[in-house]
Amino acid sequence: MVHQYKKNGYNIIMDVNSGAVHVVDDLAYDVIARYETADKQQIVTELLKKYADVPEITETEILDSIADVEELKEGGDLFSEDTFRQHAGELKKRLSTLKAICLNVAHDCNLRCKYCFADEGEYRGKREIMSLEVGKKAFDFLVENSGTRRNLEVDFFGGEPLMNFKVVKELTEYAKEIKQKTGKNIRLTLTTNGMLLNDEVIEFANREMENVVLSLDGRKEVNDKMRPTANGKGSYEIIVPKFKKLVESRNGKTYYIRGTFTNHNLDFAKDILHYADLGFKELSIEPVVCDPSEEYAIHKGDLPTILEQYDILADEMLKREEEGKGFLFYHYMIDLKHGPCIAKLVSGCGVGLEYLAITPNGDIYPCHQFVGEDEFRLGNVETGIERTDIQDKFRGSHLYEKEECANCFAKFYCSGGCAANAYHAHGNINGIYEIGCEMQRRRVENAVMMEVHRAMREAE
Ligand code: SF4
Ligand code: SF4
Repeated sequence: MVHQYKKNGYNIIMDVNSGAVHVVDDLAYDVIARYETADKQQIVTELLKKYADVPEITETEILDSIADVEELKEGGDLFSEDTFRQHAGELKKRLSTLKAICLNVAHDCNLRCKYCFADEGEYRGKREIMSLEVGKKAFDFLVENSGTRRNLEVDFFGGEPLMNFKVVKELTEYAKEIKQKTGKNIRLTLTTNGMLLNDEVIEFANREMENVVLSLDGRKEVNDKMRPTANGKGSYEIIVPKFKKLVESRNGKTYYIRGTFTNHNLDFAKDILHYADLGFKELSIEPVVCDPSEEYAIHKGDLPTILEQYDILADEMLKREEEGKGFLFYHYMIDLKHGPCIAKLVSGCGVGLEYLAITPNGDIYPCHQFVGEDEFRLGNVETGIERTDIQDKFRGSHLYEKEECANCFAKFYCSGGCAANAYHAHGNINGIYEIGCEMQRRRVENAVMMEVHRAMREAE
């Protein structure tokens, strides 16, 4: 499968199955567009007509270009076959060991974000915080189900995890005990809204957390509209100075400023640039996925604006890089040097199999976005997994099982999308969320274009 597009003055050819990316001239671009549907003579005739007023483009030139395409095809870099398809089902069936858990240490929150899938921390249940005992059992459950994996991950999540900071600290110590006893290294992440950050928490997070995810929705007016405090005030002025302090003292350790955009800020490129202007360098923003009847929901008609915003962002990022003011945007981080990895492709985010979410009472769900959906409760840390039938559904779900994905040029960068989004959009984990797919495809095009641009810049 080949995907070709023009962007920023580049004619880009993505050979989807090999992962190869080519930048070609106009003639080769037109040859490749016709290569699979027309014979040589037809291609020559059509292109001589198209380039009638370009004297350099002769029959010989066109035949040379066709020969170049044939050579790339023989070398496996163009029109390559999909060699992964036959192994995908088998590989996914073998996925069984746990790698990471999202630990909901608090089903309670001190913000009232309007779009919160955690239902202001309650997750369709009651407000609750995790005891140390349940937390330890969750860590034990992770270790016991991790097979021979040495590196594991726990994300302290909520609600707002800092509403249960004491248990977060105690579990951090427990992770060290586990390492001593078993040799398993548990990499910790804290996802926080920032309200309870103080010097003690910042010092702790920067010492113990490999990663911190900091929730902020961009410009003050945007953030404050969607992320008010419990008494209805804006949260921006409270959290931004704390985030700055944390990031400045983080000594190069990873963090992410993570936002959500809704139809109130379809000009969300401005929000990402606002993060960058505040001095943050590792950024991400995701579209809200919610009931379409919500007043802030994103609809199909918003797509042209949204796609344009991704383009504006890509252009501005390249410009800022040249000015020495570059930053990372999660969706534009793409690796073109190594081809697709089949294991990663079929595991995707690992939902339900390699990655699980655990609630304050120890209940286990496929991921944080399924928490509170009774039909997806897999078991409890006391009893282990009780519903292997649900896990089997996730095991049977991979990108080759979805017709739309198998024919999508972004499939090897997307791995078949988010099962939770598909479920919330259509009630089926095997479906796709079309609006999200359009965004994903544009992000992949932009990310590839940016890598091409950087390579050209280096070559100059
Ligand atoms: S963008 Fe959509 S169709 Fe394409 S691979 Fe991802 S989920 Fe599948
Ligand atoms: S299903 Fe979606 S929300 Fe859940 S872990 Fe995967 S990508 Fe994330």
